[in-house]
Amino acid sequence: MSAGVVVVGAGQAGFQLAASLREAGYADPITLLGDETDRPYQRPPLSKAYLAGKTDAAGLELRPAAYFADHHILHRPSVRVGSIDRPLRRVLCADGTALAYDHLVLATGARNRALPVPGADRPGVFQLRDRADADALKAALGEARAVAIVGAGFIGLEFAGICAARGLAVTVVEAAERPMARAVSAETAAFFTHAHGEAGIRFVFGAGVVAIAGDARAEAVHLRDGSSITADLVLVGIGVVPNQELAEAAGLRVGDGIRVDALLATDDPAISAIGDCARAPSRFADGAHVRVESVQNALDQGRCLAARLVGRPVAYDAVPWFWSDQGPHKLQIAGLATPSDTAVIRPVPVGLCVFRFRDGRLSAVETVDRPGDHMAARRILAQGRVLSPDEAADPAHDLKALAVGALAVGR
Ligand code: FAD
Ligand code: NAP
Repeated sequence: MSAGVVVVGAGQAGFQLAASLREAGYADPITLLGDETDRPYQRPPLSKAYLAGKTDAAGLELRPAAYFADHHILHRPSVRVGSIDRPLRRVLCADGTALAYDHLVLATGARNRALPVPGADRPGVFQLRDRADADALKAALGEARAVAIVGAGFIGLEFAGICAARGLAVTVVEAAERPMARAVSAETAAFFTHAHGEAGIRFVFGAGVVAIAGDARAEAVHLRDGSSITADLVLVGIGVVPNQELAEAAGLRVGDGIRVDALLATDDPAISAIGDCARAPSRFADGAHVRVESVQNALDQGRCLAARLVGRPVAYDAVPWFWSDQGPHKLQIAGLATPSDTAVIRPVPVGLCVFRFRDGRLSAVETVDRPGDHMAARRILAQGRVLSPDEAADPAHDLKALAVGALAVGR
């Protein structure tokens, strides 16, 4: 009997691969191994609706239990894979069991970067990656009065918005000189600095955290310049590191992610990698290998790999896109910009619309509260349509018509 596909990591990417395989008619066994206790669930609500109490654990689940039985997808929770035996094509689990595979998919995601300062392990200091983290944070929020957030990235700013809406004193400490420095332009960063400031959130930029002090629990965040922020709840959101150790120990190429080709294959043709843990070539990065941390990337790579495993290989070429709900605002990004890409602001009556250009070519579009412009931008980028900085800045230049044209005539 065929050993089928074994997936390590039952998160967004691993689940999508399994679901897409069945949709595509794959008939051999599919085993989804995950070290969490829950059925596969989505993480975005953890820093949004779930934390705000607007959805419960059932609302996070990607599919109910019956789906797995009906589709013959064997999900094994609480199973940690410890190593890969490539010659024998099997994985060895921490519980001592071994499982053979025909094809192995690494969908191990990423874990939060730790803050390397004294006191970072004190009670009252939290991180946010999984449901257990969100539950602990939610419980602590009920008691909190003053919140300090280390890192003005997506997690930090989404959490800041939730805390401010609850009337808590919030200070965000960021190493860079502006929020989301790697992800968005200075213009979009300024929009959110202002909007969060209006909501009462205080920012300290260019700050180095040296310690988290307190007796029984966290009481203050000490900064390198000698100042301190009083806080009874501290959230650390300073980015992630990919879970690549399994691949590395098995002799596969890694380097800030598991290196894969355009078909999402590792150096071993029987092993692929997808999602937050994978570093794949992208035309949106001028062909360089990039690791993208987003739901879109996890879903589209899962679908792309499933197609190859049923004999319909297509290179991965999806337009990267992201969203972030911060306070009352929705940030959406299409494409991939680097910090040095230029920014062109398109005048709009509501929200914000920023076009990024690299070497004169459109690289990304950042919008705030403009879902129509975001969708148009995705289409324009997907089709590689030409848009000049002058056209981008001209509100009379019809983006939606360009997007529709893109679909109608191709490149
Ligand atoms: P994961 O979802 O992390 O799944 C990987 C799984 O593999 C985990 O369950 C892990 O425990 C397991 N695993 C790892 N190693 C092993 C092993 N050896 N054995 C067994 N299991 C293992 N993205 C957006 O686009 N928009 C958002 O608004 C957004 N909000 C987010 C909010 C939060 C709080 C977080 C944490 C992330 C958010 N993201 C968002 C990012 C998005 O959730 C991730 O990009 C996505 O989950 C990546 O999917 P993945 O399957 O690659 O990894
Ligand atoms: P992130 O978006 O990478 O932001 C981390 C921020 O912390 C960066 O601005 C970083 O600056 C800063 N930083 C790093 N070290 C620091 C330090 N010692 N002190 C102060 N600031 C420091 O990561 P995140 O917000 O932690 O999110 C974690 C993961 O969840 C990511 O994969 C993210 O994509 C995902 N997520 C996504 C969303 C979304 O897409 N809406 C929402 C929540 C979470 P530098 O860049 O200069 O290092």
